[in-house]
Amino acid sequence: AARSNAKRRVGQNAAMTRTITSFIDGAFVPADGARLFDKRSPVDGRVIARIAEADAAQVNAAVQAARRAMAGEWGRMPVEKRCALLHAMADEITRRFDDFVAAEMADTGQPSHVMTHVFIPRGAANFKVFADVVKNVATESFRTDTPDGRGALNYAIRKPKGVIGVVCPWNAPFLLMTWKLGPALACGNAVVVKPSEETPLTAALLGEVMNAVGIPKGVYNVVNGFGPGSTGEFVTSHPGVDAITFTGETRTGTAIMRAAAEGVRDVSFELGGKNAGIVFADADFDAAVDGIFRSAFLNTGQVCLGTERVYVERPIFERFRDALKAKAEAVKYGRPEDHASTYGPLISREHQQKVLGYYRLAVEEGASVVTGGGVPQMPAELAEGCWVQPTIWTGLADDARTVREEVFGPCCHLRPFDSEDEVVGLANDTDYGLSTTIWTQNLARAHRMAERIDVGITWINSWFLRDLRTPFGGSKHSGIGREGGVHSLEFYTETRNVCVKL
Ligand code: NAD
Repeated sequence: AARSNAKRRVGQNAAMTRTITSFIDGAFVPADGARLFDKRSPVDGRVIARIAEADAAQVNAAVQAARRAMAGEWGRMPVEKRCALLHAMADEITRRFDDFVAAEMADTGQPSHVMTHVFIPRGAANFKVFADVVKNVATESFRTDTPDGRGALNYAIRKPKGVIGVVCPWNAPFLLMTWKLGPALACGNAVVVKPSEETPLTAALLGEVMNAVGIPKGVYNVVNGFGPGSTGEFVTSHPGVDAITFTGETRTGTAIMRAAAEGVRDVSFELGGKNAGIVFADADFDAAVDGIFRSAFLNTGQVCLGTERVYVERPIFERFRDALKAKAEAVKYGRPEDHASTYGPLISREHQQKVLGYYRLAVEEGASVVTGGGVPQMPAELAEGCWVQPTIWTGLADDARTVREEVFGPCCHLRPFDSEDEVVGLANDTDYGLSTTIWTQNLARAHRMAERIDVGITWINSWFLRDLRTPFGGSKHSGIGREGGVHSLEFYTETRNVCVKL
């Protein structure tokens, strides 16, 4: 709550900045009387929007609107029509591509090429892919013998869960929100979305898209605000929310799980990671350097699947370290709309302070700083941005906090290893279990290791290569459940069995 209060400052340039309000029952609600807080640009610290915090009454209005949608036209809509609407959504997002790119760049400060090549196109794809999954996945059927010899027929049907609470993080706001919305809506649910307080813009824009393509009112609702003691908690503790899908920190997942226990409601969690990258001496060297570089520094290291622990086979350790250092020192800081920039700021001042705290801790814990470790010198107009240098360490002990805790910044620790068994042990020596990336030409070894490393997702000679039909999620403290393809249907629908005596 203290963290939330610190952020509740009224905008300084009130006349010049727009106000983002909740989207409920097909309309943006007026900001009258709402508490407002500032959204600052991560690039230069300017206030770019003011956000109206949704109180408990507004969250209740959103949940009631969603329940009415389920009881109305949306709840009765044939699958074919629902899926056609989702395709129309994807087309409308593509038509307004530049608006989405601009909104996401303003919110996150990340370079335009990441938006135009990954985050926005994949956001649109999330609607199409899940519409197609829902239309094409069959349910099971069993013929059962009975004593009278006539038998019985069992078949399963899928029904939407109802109203889904969708609580989102800030690191890839549009991609991660639509990753949940696509299947939720394709399966026929209504949603109440709580975007991160740091990144409200694309969720608001999506309200316009919903209305433009004719999604019935109340199917998509957005409420803005903070987490504990605020909008996030109001959503997750509302009894009218039937299930909660959440992406964010493991600690927050624990709080949401407690809220969901009331009313025994289902949860799907995609949480933190402290992922290992493993490079064998026989790997395609340049591809491995590129892959580990992207996995550690893409999105300024703010990727749940990112690599913060890198294990390199001893014969190539020094060469690998030097090659990674050279790439890290070649990043081009700059505004997202400047096509020359390859590297953006962190999301907020608060997150910058957290990451810099880990940079100091690493040194206290005995790290050798290969490169980075601080704030880059920026031109005056960007000096108020949340910049940090890409940072590489060596020499930390395996039990150092910097090696065990998720920093969620552009940093990694390199450590040499000598054998397959040793590196499997090191990779598994963590409470997290989200993903790993293995680089080797020896595919038999790679397959063997994929079975032994306790993570939800293993990439071999690649990283972040996604097929939306595959299961996605974490082991251990990195999550509960799997989403993606047919796995999403397990969470967003309830399977019911019908038994017919013949
Ligand atoms: P966060 O947990 O701080 O916040 C996520 C969302 O939860 C925000 O909308 C926030 O307002 C809300 N929230 C916070 N406390 C709440 C509460 N008590 N009740 C209800 N809602 C609450 O996470 P973040 O800082 O936005 O995102 C970074 C984290 O997300 C990292 O740990 C990262 O690894 C993780 N992440 C995981 C995945 C994945 O797929 N596994 C993907 C992206 C990010």
